Amino acid sequence: MILFKEADALTKNLQIAKRHAGLVGFVPTMGALHDGHLALIRESVSNCTVTVVSIFVNPTQFNDPSDFEKYPSTTEADIRAVIANGADILFLPSVKEIYPLGLKHTYAYNLGYLETILEGKYRPGHFQGVCQVMEKLLRIVQPFRLYMGQKDYQQCMVIKKLLDQLSMDSELIIYPTVREADGLAMSSRNLRLEIQDRKKANTIFHALLNLKNEWSKDPSRAKEDSVSMLEKNGFRIDYVEVADSQTLKLSERPDAGTQIALVAASLGNVRLIDNMVLTD
Ligand code: AMP
Repeated sequence: MILFKEADALTKNLQIAKRHAGLVGFVPTMGALHDGHLALIRESVSNCTVTVVSIFVNPTQFNDPSDFEKYPSTTEADIRAVIANGADILFLPSVKEIYPLGLKHTYAYNLGYLETILEGKYRPGHFQGVCQVMEKLLRIVQPFRLYMGQKDYQQCMVIKKLLDQLSMDSELIIYPTVREADGLAMSSRNLRLEIQDRKKANTIFHALLNLKNEWSKDPSRAKEDSVSMLEKNGFRIDYVEVADSQTLKLSERPDAGTQIALVAASLGNVRLIDNMVLTD
């Protein structure tokens, strides 16, 4: 495994690899790697000739500064995990390397409706920051395939749109959510849960399962029950919604298209998100 801290050196190295018919798979992360991240890395390693992993906690996508300050960092263990899972290259840039002109938060991307709902509504500016860093990373790596997790479903939709707007032909692979044994979606933020909260955190999974099982029978009741399961377990809810899986248009009733349930809720000062496709 080769570790790069500088973008130019990485781009040059990848240009050589691509000349030798290397199919580059790219797994961007913010570190504190868990089995969800590692599954993405292994998927890329199995299907591409060169796998690049990046670890960069992107300051411009945190609408809450304390969330950024408290974001877990486990770099030594991450490097070992990247090697153990067969990745070829780790890109570990500094903030200055990615943002040489400083952290100007430009609102340059036209994300339309996608930015007005769910995470877009509750984390103003978040997706602008995500697009800002992803445009930079994509231009540096120019991957054949880009691996991202379904856990951040709306983010996947945003990146699809970004790839279109940048006329980049990287193929986006959306990998299914990897869960803990009790159903909780793996997340770097889980490390910050208090022990008592960790025990209750999988209520999000059960609230989603309830929507999956009950939505087609009585949608308003299903939503009320999921909300009350979360509230009873001490969650502060941002949203419990069902949407069309392609457009993310919010919906109050079952329809013929594939629908997805999405939840964002906090326990203590840890905000968790998760989602589940309602139709198999
Ligand atoms: P993050 O480090 O949280 O920015 O995540 C990096 C990538 O890993 C993103 O594409 C996430 O969607 C993906 N990811 C995070 N958690 C999971 C999970 N539990 N299962 C699958 N993919 C995940």
